[in-house]
Amino acid sequence: MAQRSESESRKLLGRLRDTMAEEAAGQERLDKITHLIADSMKTEVCSIYLFRDPSTLELCATEGLNPEAVHKTRMNLGEGLVGRVAERNNVINTAIAPEEKGFRYMPETGEEIYSSFLGVPVQRLGQRLGVLVVQSKDPRKYTDDEVYGLEVVAMVLAEMTELGAFVGEGAALRARHKEAIMFRGSVAQDGAASGQVWLHEPRVVVTNLVSEDPVIEKRRLNDALDQLRVGIDKMLSSVSRGASEQKEVMETYRMFAHSRGWLRRMETDIDKGLSAEAAVEKEQSEARARMSLASDLYIRDRLHDLDDLSNRLLRLLTGQGNNTGAEMPKRPILVASNIGPAELLDYGRKLKGIALEEGSVGSHAAIIARALAIPLIIHAENITTEALNGDHILIDGDQGIVHLRPDESVQSAFKDKMAMATQAQERYQAIRHEEAVSLCNRYVRLMMNAGLMADLPSLKDSGAKGVGLFRTELQFLVRNQMPRRSELSSIYGRVMDAAENLPVIFRTLDIGSDKVLPYMKNVAEPNPALGWRAIRVGLDKPGVLRMQLQALLRGANGRKLSIMFPFVSIPEEFFAAKDELAKAVAREKRLGHPIPEKLKVGAMLETPALAYAPDSFFKEVDFISIGGNDLKQFFFAADRENELVRQRYDVLNSSYIAFLKHIKDRCETTDTTLSYCGEDAGRPLEALCLTAIGITTLSMRAASIGPVKHLIRKTNLGALECIIANACENGDTDLRQVINDYLEDTAV
Ligand code: PEP
Ligand code: MG
Repeated sequence: MAQRSESESRKLLGRLRDTMAEEAAGQERLDKITHLIADSMKTEVCSIYLFRDPSTLELCATEGLNPEAVHKTRMNLGEGLVGRVAERNNVINTAIAPEEKGFRYMPETGEEIYSSFLGVPVQRLGQRLGVLVVQSKDPRKYTDDEVYGLEVVAMVLAEMTELGAFVGEGAALRARHKEAIMFRGSVAQDGAASGQVWLHEPRVVVTNLVSEDPVIEKRRLNDALDQLRVGIDKMLSSVSRGASEQKEVMETYRMFAHSRGWLRRMETDIDKGLSAEAAVEKEQSEARARMSLASDLYIRDRLHDLDDLSNRLLRLLTGQGNNTGAEMPKRPILVASNIGPAELLDYGRKLKGIALEEGSVGSHAAIIARALAIPLIIHAENITTEALNGDHILIDGDQGIVHLRPDESVQSAFKDKMAMATQAQERYQAIRHEEAVSLCNRYVRLMMNAGLMADLPSLKDSGAKGVGLFRTELQFLVRNQMPRRSELSSIYGRVMDAAENLPVIFRTLDIGSDKVLPYMKNVAEPNPALGWRAIRVGLDKPGVLRMQLQALLRGANGRKLSIMFPFVSIPEEFFAAKDELAKAVAREKRLGHPIPEKLKVGAMLETPALAYAPDSFFKEVDFISIGGNDLKQFFFAADRENELVRQRYDVLNSSYIAFLKHIKDRCETTDTTLSYCGEDAGRPLEALCLTAIGITTLSMRAASIGPVKHLIRKTNLGALECIIANACENGDTDLRQVINDYLEDTAV
């Protein structure tokens, strides 16, 4: 029986393929298809419903129902049995449809005489396209074989819609191809960009869906799987010892690649008449559908792994690599599920914007995107499924929104926004050489944060007074192995060359927490942000710290040098690190190498503990820089990486500002130079508050210097200081409101 139905199913798919190949308008082809399916499955009715817009389905073709209802009968997502199949992405199979929960009678179709109903979703890679339905008068439940057969047919249909085979008639069909879609994500780097989609990993296009010879197809599938397994084993053996997480991922891949269930399902699909690649894609589509329903993060991740594996298998079967031969558009906006820092650096400044499905604000890719000032939106769910190479795309890095194939009204609003941003940039350019002096004559020193050679040109363009924070870990993160001392000293030397006589403060390696070096032993920690990171690693593994200090001394080659140690919690850590530096200097001297004409050594204040260190520490350090990103997370006990709490507390809350004021007062009485280098230093309102309370050196992204300087020059910082102090005395906690009111009152 199963044998018979398999050959029938293959026959049907063969006939479907022939119909597709015929020269005919879209509607005619749809009509033929419904006829073919009804005929082959011996049912009285076969209908195709497609999405007209994301929430409405439209009857687009039918065999058996009233033809007058075609393109007239519509239902909302979730409405009636058809709407429910689409909404839940699963099959409804019932002998007596009117008794089924959710049934809605549509008189115009004449369906009242049909009792049994079988509806299967038409979807491609998790993207819902419509519903395929068969009905008959006979009150019977369809067999598992029939259900399965109809799912296979639906899969082929989905592909053909995707390939544009139906395009021609029917608003629903046309709309799907040009649909404007908006994705709401989170901002990892602000800014606005308009351009064309450039898929980091273009989708594999499966053109060969149906096959006559299951034996050949199964052999192709098994050969490809063998290749896949060999590839995974190779990757596994190349994972460095200690990279446990990477290893774990590869082990899961291996498990999937050897999964009998997966292979069996695909072979059954082939028996039904699908080609090997269509069978892989059918399983992939189903995994995606499950993924969208899974609330368990672990299961979602595993389904993701399976998705990735399916892509690899499809590439092997179709011979399509990442390079499709497509030419990169003029204004490429990268769309990907995720991307590594090295890959992003490869693209470099060519990219005008980035939209990712995954990622996090503190990820390495985000750090690179920020360093390159490329607007980046993360968590744009499903964007890789929707976007096609070359599609028009807008990145709104202020709102965290991506517009794919935007309609004209969105385009024109966006143009206005970009024009305003350009005008503002021009205004900032005009004050580039002016000082950041407030109306009351207070001078503020604005410096920039950097981490790549590529940042250095911005030093001159932005009007910064130097680099207040050079994050040295980027050179470590983007490599597959520990960089050599000579490489580092050459980079540091070139950074100082490019800065000419402006100061650069190098922060020693700040790894751990989210910044994990692929080539270093990765210790599983329950709380990495509170774990083995930054100076703690440096002191426990002094070899790396020493090597870096030597590289810095050599790079300076006798010039002035400023070094700061990250994440110092207690003075002893600072003194121990400073001892290492003293030893490195002595060694350089012994070797006859030049030593810096002036050496300044500072500490980053990133834990509340350091704010209460004894005076002797404050007197001993040459300078202190507040790492507000970390300090804030520990002050409020709110993880900077956790979207649920990241924005829960405002830096402009009076408690945090009072704490910063305490640090500033301690630095003042001990005559210690103080700066602030967290992200908040580059936000205009926050920058005003910091400077008003007396932190007068701020280090920020180059792009923020213009807006911050512009605002400082229009503000009376002395007056604002009094207003903030009064508000705090009065018990106001929301200083953002206080500052906003001040700006409004003074019409800034
Ligand atoms: C900070 O914590 O504020 C800081 C500047 O360091 P990072 O963001 O690199 O941790
Ligand atoms: Mg930090």
